[in-house]
Parts: sequence; structure tokens; C-alpha cells
Amino acid sequence: MSCDCFPKCSKCGKQMVPLSDFSNNSVAIRYKSWACTNQECRFFVVLRGGDVYYGTASAESSRK
Ligand SMILES: [Zn+2]
Repeated sequence: MSCDCFPKCSKCGKQMVPLSDFSNNSVAIRYKSWACTNQECRFFVVLRGGDVYYGTASAESSRK
């Protein structure tokens, strides 16, 4: 299944899928995150408050 409405991974070119995120208090967090469907790639993008965070979910943490 392929759809052009989803962005492609900028690292490996595979399809990315949107993720829903909720805090521990079941309050929806107003940011969008996208994760690469390639398990060996693990590239992700998080849009939060107008800022864009990206990286891989492996060795490097998203913490800055
Ligand atoms: Zn990828």
C-alpha cells in the first residue's frame, strides 16, 4: 500500500506513518510525529510548537 499523502523518509526514502501521542494524563499532546516504516532506519520527525525535531530512535536520543 502506497499513498502520496504521507511523506517519504528523508533518510531511506521509505514511507513514513503518523503517530499519535498522549501524555500520561491522557491529554492529547498537540504535536505531530512521523516515523519511518523501515525498522532498520528508524528515522522520525516530530513537529512541536512550530519547531521540528528529527533523528533516529536508535543510539541518538532526541534530547538536546
Ligand atoms: Zn527511513
